[in-house]
Amino acid sequence: MNFEELNLAPAIVKAVLEQGYETPTAIQAQAIPAVLEGHDLLGGAQTGTGKTAAFVLPMLHKLSAGEAPKNKFGGVGIRALVLTPTRELAAQVEESVQTYGKYLELSSTVVFGGVGMNPQISRVKKGVDILVATPGRLLDLLQQGVLDLGQVQILVLDEADRMLDMGFIHDVKKVLAVVPKDKQSLLFSATFSDEIRDLAATLLKNPLSIQVTPRNTTVQRITQVIHPVGRGKKKALLAHIIQEH
Ligand code: AMP
Repeated sequence: MNFEELNLAPAIVKAVLEQGYETPTAIQAQAIPAVLEGHDLLGGAQTGTGKTAAFVLPMLHKLSAGEAPKNKFGGVGIRALVLTPTRELAAQVEESVQTYGKYLELSSTVVFGGVGMNPQISRVKKGVDILVATPGRLLDLLQQGVLDLGQVQILVLDEADRMLDMGFIHDVKKVLAVVPKDKQSLLFSATFSDEIRDLAATLLKNPLSIQVTPRNTTVQRITQVIHPVGRGKKKALLAHIIQEH
């Protein structure tokens, strides 16, 4: 399998190959065709698996092939919304959008808390095709009445488990309440607690499940062992274990 076989627009494949990627990763090979076909997706994948490109590439393809609606302020309607738990991840995802979309005419921006809101207000009013955001700041912008999410066609919850761990569930639910019901939704999570499954059940319609790491387990190369030992013997025990391996 190579990137040319995935039916992505040539402008996207060109940008990907420029990154030096030779073959799609497991999650990309599975998720890209599924998203292009319009399926909702439940993706079990950790950082490092290539999950960002797995949703960004088909998202760019679909948006570049579609019409651009207007938002209620007369600006560009937001057609894809990506929610991430942290500002660092939000910035990384938006950078990937820029990198893989460099030969397309799509616009994107990122909004997160901890920085001034005014520049973000003017950008979201003017509108972008793709918005990457952390839930808290997104909600602030919504409550200020400067953000129109009525044109969203693709919604991505990235690292949903971390988002819930950080206490964003209520913010996420408020955002879900204002995006159109009829949309494609993708949920990525490294672990699957009951809370994540509940969220997936309310958001996703007949989702395809793609799992690239075993459920709720650590990386297989790591073996976990417990040796109860007094503080005084800790060093000797560690030395012994290292010697044995
Ligand atoms: P992610 O899991 O999305 O955080 O991606 C992890 C890293 O893998 C990033 O640095 C990407 O640039 C890189 N990457 C993504 N897809 C591929 C690919 N198909 N081949 C090689 N590297 C990739």
